[in-house]
Amino acid sequence: MSCEEQHSMEWQKISQRTYYRGRVALYAILQALGVGRNDEVACQAFTCVAVPEAILACGAKPVFIDIEPDGLNLDPIELKQKISSRTRAIVVQHTFGIPASMTRIMAITEQAGLPVIEDCCHTFLSTLENQYVGSFGAASFYSFEWGKPLALGIGGSAIANDPELARRLTDSFDELRYPGRLSQVKLELQGLAHRILYRPELYWKLKTLFHGLSKFGVAEGNYNPVGGDSPTAGDFSMKMAPRLERCLKNELQQIAKQADHSRRLVSQLEALIPQDSCVRPRSPSRVESVYSRYPMRVKEKGRLLVKAREENLELAEWYSTPIHPLSRDQSGCVFYEPDSCPNAEERSQEIVSLPLHSRVGRSYVEKISEFLRKAA
Ligand SMILES: *Cc1c(COP(=O)(O)O)cnc(C)c1O
Repeated sequence: MSCEEQHSMEWQKISQRTYYRGRVALYAILQALGVGRNDEVACQAFTCVAVPEAILACGAKPVFIDIEPDGLNLDPIELKQKISSRTRAIVVQHTFGIPASMTRIMAITEQAGLPVIEDCCHTFLSTLENQYVGSFGAASFYSFEWGKPLALGIGGSAIANDPELARRLTDSFDELRYPGRLSQVKLELQGLAHRILYRPELYWKLKTLFHGLSKFGVAEGNYNPVGGDSPTAGDFSMKMAPRLERCLKNELQQIAKQADHSRRLVSQLEALIPQDSCVRPRSPSRVESVYSRYPMRVKEKGRLLVKAREENLELAEWYSTPIHPLSRDQSGCVFYEPDSCPNAEERSQEIVSLPLHSRVGRSYVEKISEFLRKAA
């Protein structure tokens, strides 16, 4: 059995503890680590609001660390400076599947005696120094929202590498409840609609439809405004619906194949993309990134997105702000201070990402490369 096959078997563990969403899995891990009031949890800026939302739900305060000057992941130097006597855990994100600088991060956190939680929401089978991401820290969590490598619409999972933590997670997992009947039906219909309708050419139209439907409560949206009029507290006590869990088990069988597909598309893309207009974020050394989406730095991101929408080409904007999708004025509600993470602010203005999933093929790669060349 190859190393990859072995790991994809190891990956089946992902279906062991499945939660309503990725943020619910993170919340469960934080709770199992005993994080609570007056504690701080460090995480990177250039992330999604789901992360601080889970931290806040524990009563703790998120402390945002800037990303590396050339990359999209946590800057170890900043991390070292921002660890305080109140820090209780560090969330480390592997953005778009690019492994974070784990060797340096682990050295810092081990010295400080702090647990690392790996945010594997964007990863498949990426490795760093021949070790798979998700296996460095005390625990890791995954999300199965649209746009993630394993897309079910909604859902999450938590894996503990530390046996004592695993036991505590299993105990709390047994207390969780399933979503209500109506919610389960909605989620299934959403999944079904996505499987039937979704193609990269329909990305923008479906996105608009989805946001419209979730505003009226017909679909389950991804962002509930923090502190808004739709409190999310109830969400944190839910696990994944049984039918979705079955879907997840099926999808997991395909994961090694999907990773190969992603690698193939990336090598095609890298040969076609205009080098001068798109600066690819530099990866740390000795890594193999299996991208969930392919990030590119572009000039005039706003203009490019408008054009992509006109031409019905899937080009995702996230993250459009350091704590996506919160605006500058809204970010105070998760304790992000505007301009405190300049690299994340800058990257939010210039990163777009291309899809790499099974419905994207060679012809789509050619179409999007042509579009980027013309737009440059
Ligand atoms: C999607 C995502 C999450 C979790 O999202 P959920 O909607 O709660 O499943 C967490 N972190 C990152 C980096 C993500 O992209």
